[in-house]
Amino acid sequence: MVHIRISDLEKYAKENHVPIMLKDGIDFLTDYIKKNDIKNILEIGSAIGYSSIKMALVDCDIKVTTIERDDIMYNKAKENIETFNLNKQITIIHSDALDIELTDKYDLIFIDAAKAQYIKFFEKFKYNLKDSGVIITDNLSFHGLVEDSSNCSRNTKQLVKKIKNYIEFLKDNDEFETKFISIGDGISISKRIN
Ligand code: SAH
Ligand code: MG
Repeated sequence: MVHIRISDLEKYAKENHVPIMLKDGIDFLTDYIKKNDIKNILEIGSAIGYSSIKMALVDCDIKVTTIERDDIMYNKAKENIETFNLNKQITIIHSDALDIELTDKYDLIFIDAAKAQYIKFFEKFKYNLKDSGVIITDNLSFHGLVEDSSNCSRNTKQLVKKIKNYIEFLKDNDEFETKFISIGDGISISKRIN
């Protein structure tokens, strides 16, 4: 039997520069899941499976569907999910999230993938959200660069611009009301306006 701990995943992510959620960000997310009795979760961007494993461990009747397009990340996540014995709770889909159609509805949709595509993810997957559901997005601060990107490369500035566009999109949205929280790398919580 293989023994693995959450701290092993954190160590692996650090050593291999995998951008998993920051400690206070993931703590906030798992607390939110617990407090709001969230059971069905869709995650865009699995990486090595860290956040999906943390979310699944909140309660044994939580189900997580997570999507990852990168081959190496997908294989690593699959391996980690199996090692944690969470195959029954976590379903991982190997695909670009923008190329698949899901019919299920979720209590929580967690967007944590390519920042340039945040608006597309939101617009596509809002149809998979229950009426009472919530869309949470990570990395809206982008290591503080959204506040100040003056010393960055052109590429990074472009990406910062996309994140700012997403923030504006959320602020101007008539369908959803969004709260912005400066925890972890910046998180938003969007709920349908009734
Ligand atoms: N949620 C993870 C971290 C995800 S990092 C955690 O906190 O543990 C972002 C991941 O999203 C990367 O592995 C990247 O390959 C994946 N990704 C980016 N764009 C994607 C897309 N369009 N579809 C699916 N996965 C995507
Ligand atoms: Mg993230």
